[in-house]
Amino acid sequence: MTNLSVRAKVFLWLSMILAVSDALFVWINYRAEQARFQSHLEQRAAHLHDLFEVELGNTALSMQQTATFVASMPEVQQAFHQGRIAVDQEGGGAGGTRANLARERLLKLVSAPWQELRDHYDTRQLHFQFGDNATSFLRVHATDRFGDDLEGVRHTIFHALRDQRSTKGFECGRIICGIRGVTPVFLNGHHAKDGRFIGVLEAGTSFRTLLELLEKPSQAKFAVLLSMSHLSDTYFPDRLEKLKKENPPLNGNLVEATLHPEVRELLLNPQIAQLVEQSGTRWFKVGERHLAFTAFPLRDYLGQQDAQRAAVGTVLAWMDVEQDVGQLKRDLSINIAYALIAFLLIETMLFFALRRATFSLERMIAKQTATLRDMAAHDELTGLYNRHYLDEFLQKEYASATRHGRTFTIAILDLDHFKLINDNHGHLVGDHVLVDAAGLIKNRLRTSDLAFRFGGEEFLLVFPDTDIEEARRLCEELRLQLSGRGLGGLEAGNITASFGVAQMAVSGESLDTLLARADSALYAAKDKGRNRVEVAGV
Ligand code: GH3
Ligand code: MG
Ligand code: MG
Repeated sequence: MTNLSVRAKVFLWLSMILAVSDALFVWINYRAEQARFQSHLEQRAAHLHDLFEVELGNTALSMQQTATFVASMPEVQQAFHQGRIAVDQEGGGAGGTRANLARERLLKLVSAPWQELRDHYDTRQLHFQFGDNATSFLRVHATDRFGDDLEGVRHTIFHALRDQRSTKGFECGRIICGIRGVTPVFLNGHHAKDGRFIGVLEAGTSFRTLLELLEKPSQAKFAVLLSMSHLSDTYFPDRLEKLKKENPPLNGNLVEATLHPEVRELLLNPQIAQLVEQSGTRWFKVGERHLAFTAFPLRDYLGQQDAQRAAVGTVLAWMDVEQDVGQLKRDLSINIAYALIAFLLIETMLFFALRRATFSLERMIAKQTATLRDMAAHDELTGLYNRHYLDEFLQKEYASATRHGRTFTIAILDLDHFKLINDNHGHLVGDHVLVDAAGLIKNRLRTSDLAFRFGGEEFLLVFPDTDIEEARRLCEELRLQLSGRGLGGLEAGNITASFGVAQMAVSGESLDTLLARADSALYAAKDKGRNRVEVAGV
């Protein structure tokens, strides 16, 4: 990591942030799709629930009509009436011999319509009751059970007897659970003037037909589950034991009706078991396929009237959602693909943008560094190279000359009596003189020669590849130029300069000694009256 450039680090960080936000985008999108699918399923579930309730109401109504049809037969009314009188006279309950005779007569009378109703109208129960305790007189569907009281169990019957009116709804009894319709039976018909209330007749059916009716239009599968605790409150104990053997309960529920025996296997799945317990709508994978499940409470006759009452069971509906889940997965793949493409595009753009930015930054830095370098090497006033750069240059020149067997010569140039110029004309004029002198020097030197500002009014000249004689000649020319020109606005002849010239010694002399020799020569020039060139001896 330490070897990575700043650009690479920035790129990596930005890429990481981009990758994380990309992943976040995909995840949020996927969650939103899932939530949309869930709400779609919940709508379908609500629709299934409504359909179920409507069909339940319709079935109960048709049972009520069936009971009314049988109850309207005068001979049935007669036989039922005689049965009731016999039971009253024979001590209630099952009654005695006369009650039995009346029961047999009634059974004979209804057996033909019963056959018809059972075979063509899905009627599963036909049941006569009377009295304040709702005493069972005849179960056409279970002729050996009679004389028992149904109060506290069969509320449809109890309410119909108490109020002499029709009732309907789903209800569990002593022997069977069913969708029931109960109708009052009057002697000579309900509307007759002397119509006397005898008791009630109930017709009932199972869920099977209802489920067959529901499944096709809804494209869902159904199972009606009954809670074992409710059944143990209503069923005859021996009947319950038998039922438990035939149809073993699962998680405290008995599968009351379904067209799909595999529901027993589904109910063993802990997720489905939990859903049945809590109600709701969810989807998950069962085996190889995705299925959506909805569970809602089953309310019986009393539960329909009192929402506070516990449900008697659960209706479970399920449907195949493999296609929808497949679509969900395809959408996810598309989203991932989009995110990847976006990632790669942005990465490419980022890469080039960063490269461009660093390039122009580097260019700018290089330019500014060069300017700074230049500024550091030059004297501010005269624009010549400064003392700092002189040291660097001289060392290089010295090394190069030594290596290549070349020579070079230096000269120190000092303006004469410069203090007087300042004193007489002011510092500003002195500055102008320095600038003009520097300009003249620069102009007169050969391209290979270099001029440095060495001190206040001192300049150092370097003549590469030049021997002392040649350098002396050049200095002499320069001296004449300086004294012959009007510098800094002063008249010609006001400014003169003295020169001390020294050539690099052949025998490895140090730079300091070379400079000292040039300086001595300069002193000599000053001593000898200034405005002259003096050459240092070796
Ligand atoms: P000499 O002939 O012996 O060299 O006499 P001099 O007066 O030139 O020498 P001295 O060393 O006594 O004085 C140098 C003067 O140069 C002193 C200083 O005020 C002046 N000086 C140095 N740098 C600058 C500058 O940048 N501008 C101006 N105007 N004057 C400067
Ligand atoms: Mg000086
Ligand atoms: Mg001077």
